Amino acid sequence: MPQKTKQTPMMEQYLGIKANYPDAFLFYRLGDFYELFNEDAIKASQLLEVTLTSRNRNADEPIPMCGVPYHAAKGYIDSLIERGYKVAICEQVEDPKTAKGMVKREVVQLITPGTAMDTKSMDAKTNNYLAALTSTHTGHYHLAYADLSTGELKTTTLNSLEAVMSELMSLKAKEVVFKEAMEVDVQAELETKLGIMVSTQKEMMERAEFSYLTSEIENSGLIDVVKLLFSYLYVTQKRNLGHLQKVEVYSPTNYLKMDHYSKHNLELISSIRTGQKKGTLLWLLDETKTAMGGRLLKQWIDRPLIQEQQITMRQNIVESLINHFFERTDLNEALTRVYDLERLAGRVAFGNVNGRDLIQLQTSLLQIPQLVEIIQLMNKDEWDQLITDLDQVPEVVQLIDQAIDENAPLSIKDGGVIKDGFNEQLDRYRDAMRNGKKWIAQLEAEEKAATGIKNLKIGYNRVFGYYIEITKVNLANLPEGRYERKQTLANAERFITPELKEKEILILEAEEKSMLLEYTLFAEVRETIKDYIERLQKLAKTVAAIDVLQSFATISEKYHYTRPLMAANSQEISLIEGRHPVVEKVLGQQTYVPNSVEMDRDNEILLITGPNMSGKSTYMRQLALTVIMAQMGCFVPADKAIMPIFDQIFTRIGAADDLIAGQSTFMVEMMEANEALRYASKNSLILFDEIGRGTATYDGMALAEAIIEYIHENVHAKTLFSTHYHELTVLDERLPRLTNVHVGAVEEEGELVFLHKMLPGPADKSYGIQVAKLAGLPNDLLSRAAVILEQLEQKEEIVLNRSTQIDSSNETSISSKPSQKGKVEEKDEGQLSLFGLLEDSETEVVKAV
Ligand code: ADP
Repeated sequence: MPQKTKQTPMMEQYLGIKANYPDAFLFYRLGDFYELFNEDAIKASQLLEVTLTSRNRNADEPIPMCGVPYHAAKGYIDSLIERGYKVAICEQVEDPKTAKGMVKREVVQLITPGTAMDTKSMDAKTNNYLAALTSTHTGHYHLAYADLSTGELKTTTLNSLEAVMSELMSLKAKEVVFKEAMEVDVQAELETKLGIMVSTQKEMMERAEFSYLTSEIENSGLIDVVKLLFSYLYVTQKRNLGHLQKVEVYSPTNYLKMDHYSKHNLELISSIRTGQKKGTLLWLLDETKTAMGGRLLKQWIDRPLIQEQQITMRQNIVESLINHFFERTDLNEALTRVYDLERLAGRVAFGNVNGRDLIQLQTSLLQIPQLVEIIQLMNKDEWDQLITDLDQVPEVVQLIDQAIDENAPLSIKDGGVIKDGFNEQLDRYRDAMRNGKKWIAQLEAEEKAATGIKNLKIGYNRVFGYYIEITKVNLANLPEGRYERKQTLANAERFITPELKEKEILILEAEEKSMLLEYTLFAEVRETIKDYIERLQKLAKTVAAIDVLQSFATISEKYHYTRPLMAANSQEISLIEGRHPVVEKVLGQQTYVPNSVEMDRDNEILLITGPNMSGKSTYMRQLALTVIMAQMGCFVPADKAIMPIFDQIFTRIGAADDLIAGQSTFMVEMMEANEALRYASKNSLILFDEIGRGTATYDGMALAEAIIEYIHENVHAKTLFSTHYHELTVLDERLPRLTNVHVGAVEEEGELVFLHKMLPGPADKSYGIQVAKLAGLPNDLLSRAAVILEQLEQKEEIVLNRSTQIDSSNETSISSKPSQKGKVEEKDEGQLSLFGLLEDSETEVVKAV
């Protein structure tokens, strides 16, 4: 090791602080810059594209350094956070003017992906969650999560790591905190599989005044995970977190349960292909006017209800909104003037609110009486609770009205924030400033008159203060010795007089004092508003709910949805002329072919056959989305709907591009099937799209058949099962609660036309070759496929004969088929390759259709 050169005191201070933040970029405040050194500087200069320089350039070991100006720092910090790094902000914590020796510096905040607030890319309608995780000795997990910007704080118990991962993915949590050295394998799993930042927290805060703790938490096993989360927040943010809401304990079993893959497959929040909002249920339903409403809508989509009473309560409000068009229009207009109350309240508590924010807060609160008035016109009992919760918080409105200037600037340090008349002392300073400035204006006029120099003017700059400026051409007209010469410019001279300097001192003093005072007053106002945070948060929640409900009403009216009748335990679905809401929106109501779904206790499984691209998966998704919409309290795309209340939805649908690394399509398929078979109840909905296609034909067919039998005999969940194994359609002969349906298609002059209509009975042909033709495959190839098909169909006869003889016991039906395998190897290949072709050309087929 080369001998270390002695560090300067500043570098010593830097290294001392940096040692506590090895995994963060340390932004070290130096005058008007934040400087980064050593490794931090090298890495940051690349990431941020700022110039890498060095300190003591000529020394043996120059120190790499780069810096960003204090005023522009936010953009750079955001950029690092968004790339998944942490940034420690190290400020000077004493006034450099009065400091003896090195100015004291401290890290005042550690910004991390999970604790970042309003970065550039952060969408107002999206939450930013930080989670904490602990495990119990019984193998369960405790999860807590918070959005620092809104103060939302929730916790729950989950019974498996899969459930934890599913929840974290649904929340799109940015960061998970663990107790140091706990569950190291779990930490690694989350990091590699989900790409979530993992942080650890050593010490646990033991603060008595955890305001957000309820006795329910205090006496439950969840206390540790909540404390862990809070400790991390406290240690990183280093400030009062009074806006954190009372912890809400939730249980996934209180909501319609769907795992992350189902949510992903059903494209609830983000599209499978693009990852964007467009084309999703959220995209369809989002007519919210406020950011809070937008965030709540996402949460509602994520957690549809299972309590009949809650569902009908929402439906009642949606209905009354639909029936009151004009009131709804007024309501929407008022909502558009409501800013993000939740985040504004968060900023008040966090201490980073500015004057403009408070004006936004006031503007928002001023809309509340109007909301109440409009809602009263609709006069429905359901609204009663909401009206009571629409608390305007008049104390805050009044305080802001008295204290804050409507035109307050962004900065709270440069004055102009506090209104005249709010504080006597401030008014006096301002009088002095204004009088002084008036005096100067007068002086300018007098001197112009006295000297006869028309363009004489009095100006101001930071270095010289006030001065009288005379252009060179007019200098000759200036009586000698009238002013004191101060500065010479290219074409003018600047002068001062003793009186001018006297006034200047008065003005500047008043200005400085008034700014300081304004800052203090502003902080006082902010502190006062802090006392109302709980009320503001409650109001925000109510406004958000009203906003989401009006969004439901708007959408339901626009697309002619119908109010579903919820028949909680009937296990009966009667969806007449239902539509897939998103596909319908994209295709237009004229083009979309509605389809009914009718199922009950005697009719639990629909086995769906039909050509590829005919609409099987759309039909299945249509039902799932309708269930979710109904249980969110929204109306549904159908002419008439009677719906049971489902407890869970299981899906195995669509492209398997969402694979967990290292697992095959088939493995994932089987894992998802397993979840459904194990955990589904008679109140669940199962959607299986072509289960079994990921393996050899007979394997797949055997599994598919066994799965259907198992559901039929043991699970009794409502199941839609689409398949291209036509062999399975004979199952209806021995499974009484299974019904065959197929999607109609006709051949017109050798061309395939999809009717997209569900018809009773099995499909008679798979039309694979016609679909391939639609996709534009070469004619030669298509003719050859037709020949192969014919050969295969002859062999199929044998199989069909065999399978109608199958004994009804499971074992026989599964074991009997593979024994045929050798005989029909050729068919395996033929079918698989055809389907392989189809899958690749799916996009083109869509265009062709
Ligand atoms: P499958 O699952 O049978 O392969 P999809 O459900 O993916 O077929 O449907 C293929 C395409 O057909 C969809 O992208 C859509 O454009 C169209 N489609 C499906 N159902 C309907 C319908 N009911 N009305 C109109 N078009 C439909």
